[in-house]
Amino acid sequence: METTVLKKIWLSPPHMGNNEEAYVKEAFDSNWIAPLGPNVHYFETAIEEFVGNNAHTACLSSGTAAIHLALELMGVGKGDEVLCQSFTFSASANPITYLGATPIFIDSEEDTWNISPTLLEVAIKERMEMGKKPKAIVAVHLYGMPYKVDEVNAISKKYDIPVVEDSAEALGSSYRGFGCGSLGDIGILSFNGNKIITTSGGGALVSKDKSIKEKAVFLATQARDNAPHYQHSHIGYNYRMSNVLAGIGRGQMEVLGDRVNARRQNFEYYKEHLADLSEISFLEEPEGAYSNRWLTCILTPGYEVREKLRIALENENIESRPLWKPMHIQPIFKNAKHYTNGVSEKLFEKGLCLPSGSSMEREDLERICRIIKNELR
Ligand SMILES: *Cc1c(COP(=O)(O)O)cnc(C)c1O
Repeated sequence: METTVLKKIWLSPPHMGNNEEAYVKEAFDSNWIAPLGPNVHYFETAIEEFVGNNAHTACLSSGTAAIHLALELMGVGKGDEVLCQSFTFSASANPITYLGATPIFIDSEEDTWNISPTLLEVAIKERMEMGKKPKAIVAVHLYGMPYKVDEVNAISKKYDIPVVEDSAEALGSSYRGFGCGSLGDIGILSFNGNKIITTSGGGALVSKDKSIKEKAVFLATQARDNAPHYQHSHIGYNYRMSNVLAGIGRGQMEVLGDRVNARRQNFEYYKEHLADLSEISFLEEPEGAYSNRWLTCILTPGYEVREKLRIALENENIESRPLWKPMHIQPIFKNAKHYTNGVSEKLFEKGLCLPSGSSMEREDLERICRIIKNELR
Protein backbone atom coordinates (compact mmCIF):
# COMPACT_ATOMS: atom_id res chain seq x y z
CA MET A 1 0.00 0.00 0.00
CA GLU A 2 1.22 3.45 -0.85
CA THR A 3 1.58 5.98 1.95
CA THR A 4 1.47 9.63 1.12
CA VAL A 5 2.72 12.38 3.40
CA LEU A 6 0.26 15.23 3.28
CA LYS A 7 1.91 18.50 2.32
CA LYS A 8 2.12 20.83 5.31
CA ILE A 9 0.23 24.09 4.91
CA TRP A 10 1.30 26.80 7.34
CA LEU A 11 -0.87 29.64 8.57
CA SER A 12 1.36 32.43 7.25
CA PRO A 13 4.90 31.43 6.28
CA PRO A 14 7.65 33.78 5.09
CA HIS A 15 7.70 34.39 1.32
CA MET A 16 10.93 35.76 -0.12
CA GLY A 17 11.13 37.65 -3.41
CA ASN A 18 14.06 37.81 -5.83
CA ASN A 19 16.54 40.28 -4.35
CA GLU A 20 16.65 39.72 -0.58
CA GLU A 21 19.79 37.58 -0.75
CA ALA A 22 21.57 40.04 -3.02
CA TYR A 23 20.97 42.90 -0.56
CA VAL A 24 22.15 40.75 2.36
CA LYS A 25 25.24 39.83 0.31
CA GLU A 26 25.84 43.53 -0.29
CA ALA A 27 26.01 44.00 3.48
CA PHE A 28 28.59 41.17 3.69
CA ASP A 29 30.64 42.38 0.73
CA SER A 30 30.89 45.89 2.16
CA ASN A 31 31.42 44.48 5.70
CA TRP A 32 28.43 46.57 6.81
CA ILE A 33 27.40 43.98 9.38
CA ALA A 34 27.14 46.44 12.27
CA PRO A 35 23.73 47.93 13.01
CA LEU A 36 22.67 50.69 10.61
CA GLY A 37 24.08 51.16 7.14
CA PRO A 38 22.76 51.61 3.60
CA ASN A 39 20.19 48.78 3.66
CA VAL A 40 18.50 50.41 6.67
CA HIS A 41 18.36 53.71 4.80
CA TYR A 42 16.91 52.10 1.63
CA PHE A 43 14.42 50.03 3.62
CA GLU A 44 13.21 53.10 5.52
CA THR A 45 12.88 55.11 2.31
CA ALA A 46 10.90 52.31 0.65
CA ILE A 47 8.50 52.13 3.62
CA GLU A 48 8.06 55.92 3.59
CA GLU A 49 7.21 55.87 -0.12
CA PHE A 50 4.83 52.93 0.24
CA VAL A 51 2.96 54.17 3.31
CA GLY A 52 2.90 57.76 1.99
CA ASN A 53 1.16 60.57 3.88
CA ASN A 54 4.57 62.14 4.79
CA ALA A 55 5.55 59.19 6.95
CA HIS A 56 9.01 59.31 8.52
CA THR A 57 10.22 55.86 9.49
CA ALA A 58 12.75 54.44 11.95
CA CYS A 59 13.48 50.73 11.52
CA LEU A 60 13.82 48.90 14.82
CA SER A 61 14.49 45.44 16.21
CA SER A 62 10.77 44.61 16.58
CA GLY A 63 7.24 45.95 16.50
CA THR A 64 7.13 45.53 20.27
CA ALA A 65 10.16 47.82 20.59
CA ALA A 66 8.38 50.35 18.36
CA ILE A 67 5.30 50.35 20.64
CA HIS A 68 7.56 50.75 23.68
CA LEU A 69 9.31 53.80 22.17
CA ALA A 70 6.02 55.27 20.88
CA LEU A 71 4.51 55.17 24.36
CA GLU A 72 7.66 56.60 25.93
CA LEU A 73 7.69 59.45 23.38
CA MET A 74 4.08 60.19 24.36
CA GLY A 75 5.27 60.65 27.91
CA VAL A 76 3.76 57.45 29.33
CA GLY A 77 5.39 56.65 32.66
CA LYS A 78 4.96 55.13 36.07
CA GLY A 79 1.40 55.13 37.38
CA ASP A 80 -0.18 56.31 34.12
CA GLU A 81 -3.15 54.63 32.50
CA VAL A 82 -3.18 53.65 28.81
CA LEU A 83 -6.32 52.59 26.94
CA CYS A 84 -5.66 49.55 24.76
CA GLN A 85 -7.74 47.47 22.37
CA SER A 86 -8.47 44.20 24.17
CA PHE A 87 -8.88 42.07 21.04
CA THR A 88 -5.25 41.87 19.93
CA PHE A 89 -1.94 40.08 20.30
CA SER A 90 -0.29 40.61 23.70
CA ALA A 91 2.53 42.68 22.16
CA SER A 92 0.09 45.61 21.82
CA ALA A 93 -0.30 45.74 25.59
CA ASN A 94 2.96 44.45 27.09
CA PRO A 95 5.04 47.61 26.48
CA ILE A 96 2.53 49.61 28.58
CA THR A 97 3.72 47.61 31.56
CA TYR A 98 7.44 48.04 30.66
CA LEU A 99 6.95 51.73 31.44
CA GLY A 100 5.29 51.06 34.80
CA ALA A 101 1.92 52.15 33.39
CA THR A 102 -1.37 50.25 33.59
CA PRO A 103 -3.38 49.02 30.59
CA ILE A 104 -7.13 49.51 30.56
CA PHE A 105 -8.75 47.28 27.97
CA ILE A 106 -11.44 48.37 25.52
CA ASP A 107 -13.64 45.89 23.68
CA SER A 108 -14.36 45.80 19.94
CA GLU A 109 -17.22 46.77 17.64
CA GLU A 110 -18.71 44.39 15.05
CA ASP A 111 -17.88 46.22 11.78
CA THR A 112 -14.07 45.95 11.94
CA TRP A 113 -13.54 43.80 15.08
CA ASN A 114 -11.36 46.63 16.37
CA ILE A 115 -11.58 49.12 19.26
CA SER A 116 -15.13 50.35 19.87
CA PRO A 117 -15.17 54.17 19.66
CA THR A 118 -18.30 54.16 21.85
CA LEU A 119 -16.63 52.23 24.67
CA LEU A 120 -13.43 54.21 24.20
CA GLU A 121 -15.25 57.44 24.95
CA VAL A 122 -17.17 55.91 27.86
CA ALA A 123 -13.83 54.82 29.34
CA ILE A 124 -12.16 58.21 28.85
CA LYS A 125 -15.07 60.04 30.50
CA GLU A 126 -15.13 57.65 33.43
CA ARG A 127 -11.37 57.76 33.98
CA MET A 128 -11.44 61.57 33.84
CA GLU A 129 -14.33 61.73 36.31
CA MET A 130 -12.20 59.61 38.62
CA GLY A 131 -9.52 62.26 38.30
CA LYS A 132 -7.14 60.44 35.99
CA LYS A 133 -6.81 61.23 32.32
CA PRO A 134 -5.44 58.35 30.24
CA LYS A 135 -2.05 59.12 28.69
CA ALA A 136 -2.45 57.30 25.34
CA ILE A 137 -4.70 55.06 23.23
CA VAL A 138 -3.40 51.89 21.55
CA ALA A 139 -5.66 51.03 18.58
CA VAL A 140 -5.01 48.02 16.35
CA HIS A 141 -5.80 47.23 12.69
CA LEU A 142 -6.31 43.57 13.52
CA TYR A 143 -5.77 41.01 10.74
CA GLY A 144 -5.15 43.98 8.43
CA MET A 145 -8.64 45.49 8.78
CA PRO A 146 -8.41 49.23 9.51
CA TYR A 147 -10.09 50.32 12.74
CA LYS A 148 -12.60 53.19 12.68
CA VAL A 149 -9.91 55.79 12.12
CA ASP A 150 -12.15 58.87 11.78
CA GLU A 151 -14.05 58.08 14.97
CA VAL A 152 -10.95 57.19 17.00
CA ASN A 153 -9.05 60.27 15.80
CA ALA A 154 -12.03 62.50 16.61
CA ILE A 155 -12.09 61.17 20.18
CA SER A 156 -8.31 61.52 20.41
CA LYS A 157 -8.58 65.16 19.36
CA LYS A 158 -11.60 65.94 21.56
CA TYR A 159 -9.85 64.74 24.72
CA ASP A 160 -6.28 65.48 23.57
CA ILE A 161 -5.03 61.91 24.05
CA PRO A 162 -2.54 60.64 21.41
CA VAL A 163 -3.02 57.39 19.46
CA VAL A 164 -0.46 54.65 18.96
CA GLU A 165 -1.58 53.04 15.71
CA ASP A 166 -0.62 49.38 15.96
CA SER A 167 -0.27 48.57 12.27
CA ALA A 168 1.82 45.42 12.84
CA GLU A 169 -0.67 43.34 10.84
CA ALA A 170 -1.73 46.04 8.39
CA LEU A 171 1.18 47.11 6.18
CA GLY A 172 -0.46 47.49 2.76
CA SER A 173 -3.91 48.29 4.18
CA SER A 174 -5.36 51.76 3.88
CA TYR A 175 -8.19 53.93 5.12
CA ARG A 176 -9.80 56.49 2.80
CA GLY A 177 -6.72 56.14 0.59
CA PHE A 178 -4.17 56.78 3.35
CA GLY A 179 -1.72 54.02 4.22
CA CYS A 180 -2.08 52.23 7.56
CA GLY A 181 0.87 53.17 9.73
CA SER A 182 0.40 56.87 8.94
CA LEU A 183 -3.01 57.34 10.57
CA GLY A 184 -2.23 57.75 14.27
CA ASP A 185 0.07 60.12 16.13
CA ILE A 186 2.70 57.39 15.96
CA GLY A 187 2.30 54.23 13.87
CA ILE A 188 4.14 50.97 14.29
CA LEU A 189 4.90 48.11 11.88
CA SER A 190 6.20 44.57 12.42
CA PHE A 191 8.35 42.41 10.18
CA ASN A 192 8.17 39.30 12.32
CA GLY A 193 8.26 35.91 10.64
CA ASN A 194 4.56 35.49 9.89
CA LYS A 195 3.65 39.07 8.96
CA ILE A 196 2.86 40.12 5.39
CA ILE A 197 6.55 40.84 4.81
CA THR A 198 9.35 39.78 7.12
CA THR A 199 12.96 40.49 7.99
CA SER A 200 12.89 37.35 10.21
CA GLY A 201 12.46 39.81 13.07
CA GLY A 202 12.05 43.56 13.02
CA GLY A 203 9.72 46.50 13.25
CA ALA A 204 9.39 50.19 12.53
CA LEU A 205 8.09 53.37 14.08
CA VAL A 206 6.30 55.77 11.74
CA SER A 207 5.45 59.43 12.28
CA LYS A 208 4.53 62.45 10.20
CA ASP A 209 6.67 64.47 12.59
CA LYS A 210 10.34 64.13 11.61
CA SER A 211 11.49 65.01 15.11
CA ILE A 212 9.60 61.97 16.47
CA LYS A 213 11.63 59.73 14.18
CA GLU A 214 14.84 61.42 15.32
CA LYS A 215 13.93 61.01 18.98
CA ALA A 216 13.07 57.34 18.39
CA VAL A 217 16.44 56.73 16.72
CA PHE A 218 18.17 58.52 19.62
CA LEU A 219 16.45 56.32 22.24
CA ALA A 220 16.95 53.18 20.13
CA THR A 221 20.73 53.71 20.00
CA GLN A 222 21.39 54.01 23.75
CA ALA A 223 20.51 57.71 23.95
CA ARG A 224 24.00 59.03 23.28
CA ASP A 225 24.42 62.76 23.70
CA ASN A 226 26.29 64.71 21.05
CA ALA A 227 29.84 64.42 22.46
CA PRO A 228 33.08 62.74 21.38
CA HIS A 229 32.99 60.51 24.47
CA TYR A 230 30.03 58.38 25.54
CA GLN A 231 27.74 60.69 27.46
CA HIS A 232 24.12 60.02 28.46
CA SER A 233 21.37 62.24 29.85
CA HIS A 234 18.58 59.71 29.18
CA ILE A 235 18.03 55.98 29.62
CA GLY A 236 18.44 54.41 26.19
CA TYR A 237 17.72 51.11 24.46
CA ASN A 238 19.42 48.89 21.91
CA TYR A 239 16.47 48.74 19.51
CA ARG A 240 17.85 49.68 16.10
CA MET A 241 17.59 47.30 13.12
CA SER A 242 20.71 45.61 11.74
CA ASN A 243 21.91 46.37 8.24
CA VAL A 244 21.89 42.63 7.43
CA LEU A 245 18.20 42.19 8.27
CA ALA A 246 17.30 45.46 6.56
CA GLY A 247 18.67 43.87 3.37
CA ILE A 248 15.86 41.30 3.60
CA GLY A 249 13.36 44.09 4.21
CA ARG A 250 14.62 46.04 1.21
CA GLY A 251 13.98 43.04 -1.02
CA GLN A 252 10.58 42.38 0.60
CA MET A 253 9.40 45.93 -0.12
CA GLU A 254 9.83 45.25 -3.86
CA VAL A 255 7.18 42.50 -3.65
CA LEU A 256 4.86 43.95 -0.99
CA GLY A 257 2.23 44.95 -3.57
CA ASP A 258 2.18 41.38 -4.92
CA ARG A 259 1.91 39.98 -1.40
CA VAL A 260 -1.14 42.14 -0.66
CA ASN A 261 -2.78 41.04 -3.92
CA ALA A 262 -2.09 37.37 -3.20
CA ARG A 263 -3.57 37.59 0.31
CA ARG A 264 -6.63 39.41 -0.95
CA GLN A 265 -7.07 36.71 -3.59
CA ASN A 266 -6.89 34.04 -0.87
CA PHE A 267 -9.73 35.82 0.92
CA GLU A 268 -11.80 36.00 -2.27
CA TYR A 269 -11.21 32.31 -2.98
CA TYR A 270 -12.35 31.25 0.48
CA LYS A 271 -15.37 33.51 0.34
CA GLU A 272 -16.46 32.25 -3.06
CA HIS A 273 -15.89 28.57 -2.33
CA LEU A 274 -17.41 28.54 1.14
CA ALA A 275 -20.30 30.79 0.15
CA ASP A 276 -22.88 27.98 0.15
CA LEU A 277 -22.14 27.11 3.79
CA SER A 278 -24.64 29.14 5.76
CA GLU A 279 -22.71 28.45 9.01
CA ILE A 280 -19.63 30.36 7.83
CA SER A 281 -19.30 34.13 7.60
CA PHE A 282 -16.54 36.60 6.76
CA LEU A 283 -15.61 40.13 7.78
CA GLU A 284 -16.38 42.55 4.95
CA GLU A 285 -14.57 45.84 4.37
CA PRO A 286 -16.65 48.76 5.65
CA GLU A 287 -16.85 51.87 3.47
CA GLY A 288 -13.44 53.57 3.22
CA ALA A 289 -11.46 50.53 4.40
CA TYR A 290 -8.99 48.53 2.31
CA SER A 291 -7.55 45.47 4.07
CA ASN A 292 -4.34 43.65 3.16
CA ARG A 293 -6.23 40.50 4.32
CA TRP A 294 -3.14 39.43 6.25
CA LEU A 295 -5.13 36.48 7.59
CA THR A 296 -8.48 35.28 6.29
CA CYS A 297 -10.74 34.71 9.30
CA ILE A 298 -14.04 32.85 9.33
CA LEU A 299 -16.77 32.92 11.94
CA THR A 300 -18.46 29.62 12.79
CA PRO A 301 -21.65 29.14 14.84
CA GLY A 302 -19.60 28.53 18.00
CA TYR A 303 -16.72 26.94 19.86
CA GLU A 304 -17.60 23.34 18.96
CA VAL A 305 -17.72 23.88 15.21
CA ARG A 306 -14.62 26.06 15.35
CA GLU A 307 -12.72 23.29 17.13
CA LYS A 308 -14.12 20.61 14.83
CA LEU A 309 -12.76 22.49 11.82
CA ARG A 310 -9.43 23.32 13.45
CA ILE A 311 -8.83 19.67 14.40
CA ALA A 312 -9.96 18.34 11.01
CA LEU A 313 -7.44 20.67 9.35
CA GLU A 314 -4.72 19.71 11.84
CA ASN A 315 -5.31 16.02 11.09
CA GLU A 316 -4.59 16.84 7.44
CA ASN A 317 -1.34 18.65 8.31
CA ILE A 318 -2.88 22.11 7.92
CA GLU A 319 -2.28 24.88 10.44
CA SER A 320 -5.19 27.12 11.42
CA ARG A 321 -5.60 29.17 14.58
CA PRO A 322 -8.39 30.52 16.77
CA LEU A 323 -8.74 34.31 16.70
CA TRP A 324 -6.74 36.26 19.31
CA LYS A 325 -7.81 35.67 22.88
CA PRO A 326 -8.83 39.09 24.26
CA MET A 327 -6.41 40.65 26.73
CA HIS A 328 -9.07 41.19 29.40
CA ILE A 329 -9.51 37.42 29.77
CA GLN A 330 -5.78 36.59 29.66
CA PRO A 331 -4.47 35.23 32.99
CA ILE A 332 -1.70 37.87 33.12
CA PHE A 333 -4.21 40.73 32.78
CA LYS A 334 -7.02 39.25 34.89
CA ASN A 335 -6.88 42.16 37.32
CA ALA A 336 -6.77 44.85 34.65
CA LYS A 337 -9.71 47.23 34.35
CA HIS A 338 -11.75 46.77 31.20
CA TYR A 339 -14.72 48.19 29.34
CA THR A 340 -16.42 45.31 27.54
CA ASN A 341 -19.52 44.50 25.51
CA GLY A 342 -19.04 40.78 24.76
CA VAL A 343 -17.94 41.27 21.14
CA SER A 344 -14.32 40.13 21.39
CA GLU A 345 -15.15 37.15 23.63
CA LYS A 346 -17.67 35.98 21.06
CA LEU A 347 -15.19 36.42 18.22
CA PHE A 348 -12.61 34.40 20.16
CA GLU A 349 -15.14 31.61 20.66
CA LYS A 350 -16.38 31.41 17.08
CA GLY A 351 -13.50 32.55 14.91
CA LEU A 352 -10.79 30.67 13.07
CA CYS A 353 -7.85 32.02 11.02
CA LEU A 354 -7.34 29.99 7.86
CA PRO A 355 -4.01 29.48 6.11
CA SER A 356 -3.33 32.76 4.32
CA GLY A 357 0.25 32.70 3.05
CA SER A 358 1.01 34.61 -0.14
CA SER A 359 2.83 31.54 -1.53
CA MET A 360 -0.19 29.22 -1.23
CA GLU A 361 -1.19 27.44 -4.39
CA ARG A 362 -4.64 26.94 -5.86
CA GLU A 363 -4.59 23.24 -4.90
CA ASP A 364 -3.81 24.15 -1.27
CA LEU A 365 -6.88 26.38 -1.14
CA GLU A 366 -8.97 23.68 -2.80
CA ARG A 367 -7.81 21.12 -0.25
CA ILE A 368 -8.66 23.40 2.70
CA CYS A 369 -12.13 24.23 1.36
CA ARG A 370 -12.84 20.56 0.66
CA ILE A 371 -12.02 19.62 4.26
CA ILE A 372 -14.18 22.41 5.67
CA LYS A 373 -17.11 21.43 3.45
CA ASN A 374 -16.80 17.76 4.39
CA GLU A 375 -16.88 18.60 8.09
CA LEU A 376 -19.97 20.75 7.80
CA ARG A 377 -22.01 18.38 5.64
C1 LIG B 1 3.16 41.00 15.62
C2 LIG B 1 2.41 42.02 16.37
C3 LIG B 1 3.05 42.93 17.22
C4 LIG B 1 4.50 42.83 17.60
O1 LIG B 1 5.42 42.86 16.62
P1 LIG B 1 6.83 42.11 16.83
O2 LIG B 1 7.62 42.56 15.65
O3 LIG B 1 6.55 40.63 16.81
O4 LIG B 1 7.42 42.55 18.11
C5 LIG B 1 2.31 43.92 17.81
N1 LIG B 1 0.99 44.01 17.62
C6 LIG B 1 0.33 43.15 16.83
C7 LIG B 1 -1.15 43.32 16.64
C8 LIG B 1 1.00 42.11 16.20
O5 LIG B 1 0.33 41.23 15.46
